[in-house]
Amino acid sequence: MLTETHPDAHCELDHGSPLELAVATILSAQCTDKKVNEVTPKLFARYPTAADYAGADRGEMEELIRPTGFYRNKTNSLIQLGQALVERYDGQVPGRLADLVTLPGIGRKTANVILGNAFDVPGITVDTHFQRLVRRWELTTETDPVKIEHAIGAMFPKRDWTMLSHRIIFHGRRVCHARKPACGACTLTKLCPSYGTGPTEPAAAAKLLKGPRARDLAVAAGVDPELVPAQAVQAEAP
Ligand code: SF4
Repeated sequence: MLTETHPDAHCELDHGSPLELAVATILSAQCTDKKVNEVTPKLFARYPTAADYAGADRGEMEELIRPTGFYRNKTNSLIQLGQALVERYDGQVPGRLADLVTLPGIGRKTANVILGNAFDVPGITVDTHFQRLVRRWELTTETDPVKIEHAIGAMFPKRDWTMLSHRIIFHGRRVCHARKPACGACTLTKLCPSYGTGPTEPAAAAKLLKGPRARDLAVAAGVDPELVPAQAVQAEAP
C-alpha cells in the first residue's frame, strides 16, 4: 500500500557521491532536507574531496553552511570527517557499517542512509518519522532505534529495506504527522490500529496533507482532491 501511495519515495538529500551524501546527512541534523539542498551545491563545488574538507578554512566553511543551523558544530564534524577519511580510508567513504560508524559526525542512522543510497547496501533508517509510524502501526513496542531497526528488519526482505525506509519517512512527512496525522485522508485507514489519532473527517484531514503530491495523496485515499488547499501543495514536507 505504501508503495502505491508514495511511488516518488527517495532520498531527499541531493548528492552525487558517497562523500556528498555523508556531508549532506551531517548538515541535515535539526534542519530540513530542502534547506540542506540549497546549501550543498556551493559547498560540494568548493570542497570536492575529503582532503578539501580536511584542510578547509573554518570561517569560510561556517559561512557556507550557516543557513543549516548549528554551523559551528557541523563545521567541526565536516573537517574531522575529512581528516579521518584521509588518515584512515585513503580519502574514500567506506562502504561498511562497522567502518562508517567510527567516523566523526556519522551515527548508525546516517551510516544506514549512506549504505542504502550511495552503496546500494540495504539499510533501515530509523529516524523520528520511522519510529513514530512503526509504533503507531504496532509493528514494534521497542523505543531504542537499534532494536527498532532489527525488529522491522526481521519482518521485511533485506532487499526492500532502503525503499521501505523512504516510504515510511515520506508517509510521516506528508500524511502521518507527529501532532495531527491526516487519518481521514490516509491510504492506510483500514489497516492502521491508530486510525483516529488525527482528524478522520475528510475535509479536515485533507488540509493536513503536505507536499507537491498532496492532491494525489488525497485521491489515493478516496478523498476529493479539491479539499486540499493550495498551501498544502506548496508546503514543504518537514
Ligand atoms: S490512519 Fe492516521 S495514524 Fe494511521 S497511518 Fe494513517 S495518518 Fe497515521
